[in-house]
Amino acid sequence: MSAITFNRTKIIATLGPASDNYDTMKALIQEGVDIFRLNFSHGSHENHENTVKLIRQLNAELGTHISILQDLQGPKIRTGLVKDNGVELVPNKNLKICNDHSIEGTSERIGISYDDLAKDVKPGEVILMDDGNLKVEVLSTNGVDEIETKIIHGGILKSRKGVNFPYTDIKVPALTEKDYEDLQFGLKHRVDWIALSFVRTAEEILELKGIIESKNVDSRVIAKIEKPEAVENIDSIIEVTDAIMVARGDLGVEMIMEEVPLIQKKIVRKCNEASKPVIIATQMMESMISNPRPTRAETNDVANAVMDGADVVMLSAETAAGKHPIETIRSMNKTISVVEEQAEKVYNKFFDIDEDSDTYIHDNVISTACRLSWDTNAKGIVGMTRSGYTAFELAKHRPKSSIFIFTDNYDVLTRINLIWGVRGFYYNKFTTTDETIEDVINILKENLLIESGDLIINTASMPIYEQQRTNTIKLSRVK
Ligand code: PGA
Ligand code: MN
Repeated sequence: MSAITFNRTKIIATLGPASDNYDTMKALIQEGVDIFRLNFSHGSHENHENTVKLIRQLNAELGTHISILQDLQGPKIRTGLVKDNGVELVPNKNLKICNDHSIEGTSERIGISYDDLAKDVKPGEVILMDDGNLKVEVLSTNGVDEIETKIIHGGILKSRKGVNFPYTDIKVPALTEKDYEDLQFGLKHRVDWIALSFVRTAEEILELKGIIESKNVDSRVIAKIEKPEAVENIDSIIEVTDAIMVARGDLGVEMIMEEVPLIQKKIVRKCNEASKPVIIATQMMESMISNPRPTRAETNDVANAVMDGADVVMLSAETAAGKHPIETIRSMNKTISVVEEQAEKVYNKFFDIDEDSDTYIHDNVISTACRLSWDTNAKGIVGMTRSGYTAFELAKHRPKSSIFIFTDNYDVLTRINLIWGVRGFYYNKFTTTDETIEDVINILKENLLIESGDLIINTASMPIYEQQRTNTIKLSRVK
């Protein structure tokens, strides 16, 4: 069977010490994970290589198409090491910050990984550390390598914590040296999706896509929206990227936290319209890092993301470093399935088709197939694709019928596992349309996904051997 969970909304689990072993990963897949995320802010290449091998081994053993997502750290700024791995920052005292993160930090002076710090910041700007828990205000800068700040919100600062500059125009490249090296790893292993952190502009996504294409690899790109500039440039970013992640962790520090819920809803709507998968990330089940059950508020958050139209919900520390990775997936999966069963608003969105689009004919046929499935209560809609395009377009309209995608491209099979509702199958005989439709129906019957008497909608491209874009619909009753 090609998919163990039948939920439409997909789940990403980040792997880490709590989960990156064969047994736990197998259990996570069986509980409903669709995509594994390798977080390149942590872990060695050797470790990630081992994980990639395990995912592919499990896919072969279980007959699944679990997707691999490589998450590049991007220009994330961190504090250096600090004395005894924890120094106290006392409110109203001054703190010097320098650009040498190899020094051992103290309560008076710390280093961070940002070369042009003293050139870019201006007096009056604020700097946040450790997920926004610590806050300092810039008093002065020497313009070379060090700044003087006043501590506003104090507390214990540990080593290698994230640093955010919400109001500073940070002049760092989109891809750091580390990202380039990590990207080589991702391309060598042909990962399905590559996420870039701290994206600011569409050009940065185009730069990443250019590198991927120059290596003749077909990995697709996710823009992580976690900076105010990205929110401002959201339309142009959505246009060029293949998918979006609402990265609420850093976004909630870089912007006023209270703005994030509406930004999330707005981005989801725009992505749905543009047929670009959208992922909701961070703190979805945060309390399950230590507790075996989620809070009511977390369950509500997941449910709302599903109702808003997210393609994917993501877990970070819950599965990477938490005490209950398997229970977390089980609980999230249950929430999704209950909401999808009960909330009609999740389905049948039927977006308008752009008359001027190059893909007008194809897009219209796909949207008509979705409407037909609604009218006839069909069990499933079948799409045939080599690029994956049809899968993205079918999912856009959120049909209540299952979306079955057949492809002869193994890369596409795992890639499309990130898309709402899509279940992929390998198929490589494209002789005549009649034969293919019969084969496909037999495969679905063998997998117990449809049975005789069900209505099924096949979409196809005629003539079939040309494998052009979808231009044909057939509605039939399964014999
Ligand atoms: P991260 O991104 O986990 O890589 O920081 C997600 C977020 O910021 O929400
Ligand atoms: Mn982040």
